[in-house]
Amino acid sequence: MQFVDPHIHMISRTTDDYARMAMAGCAAISEPAFWAGFDRGTADGFHDYFRHLTEVEPKRAALYHIKHYCWLCINAKEAENVTLSREVIKIIPEFLKKSNVLGIGEIGLNKNTANEATIFQEHVDLAMKTNELILIHTPHLEDKFKGTRMIVDMLMNDKRIQPHRVCIDHVEEHTVRLALDNGFWCGMTLYPITKCTPSRSADILEMYGPERIMVNSAGDWGQSDPLAVPALIQELKRRGHAEALIERVVYHNPLEFWKQSNNWRG
Ligand SMILES: [Zn+2]
Repeated sequence: MQFVDPHIHMISRTTDDYARMAMAGCAAISEPAFWAGFDRGTADGFHDYFRHLTEVEPKRAALYHIKHYCWLCINAKEAENVTLSREVIKIIPEFLKKSNVLGIGEIGLNKNTANEATIFQEHVDLAMKTNELILIHTPHLEDKFKGTRMIVDMLMNDKRIQPHRVCIDHVEEHTVRLALDNGFWCGMTLYPITKCTPSRSADILEMYGPERIMVNSAGDWGQSDPLAVPALIQELKRRGHAEALIERVVYHNPLEFWKQSNNWRG
């Protein structure tokens, strides 16, 4: 079965991972801009990173016949530096016309601070002015519910937002309804230790159904698994779910969301 991983940071993965993903049936991925493992000091550092996401990584993926898409932003962790964030937001528009860019992301909150909320809203404003899709990172662990609630409130208070053009990522049992009930897409992240395991994710799908839900590995520098989506496929098959339902979640749903992007050519 073909699958799409709509959230994976290939800059931090080896070429062997591309090979293994391709052999497991990966057709396409999308790579949100994120933290590099250290705080970057200048907007030029982000300019180079955006060139990596729009020029270098698509070529590396193409060697394995995997389509590579990406999202641009300054992540919530570095958004604490408001001056730097504003400089980075200024350089984003020059990259929005690059053919593999799907929109603005992964923006969101990390520690739910006022600075993070300010920069989140300035990214949203850019996305509204340029008619871009939005991909949202929600905080980890104990602050997740509060952060997701804050994000949903900020979005619902902005009358320009069309929820079906926004994906709220890293949802878990206690936040999935905040996304779905307000009309947003959502992503479940399959992590070996935190976020959703394949079996928890399968439980959530059984409770809420497949509409507007996608799954991803969020593979990055840390402990994570680029084959997490195939692991969920196995879990859903083991539980006797129909191929069509599984394929909808792991393949058709992310494409349906992405197809709304300005640059979409398939
Ligand atoms: Zn991420």
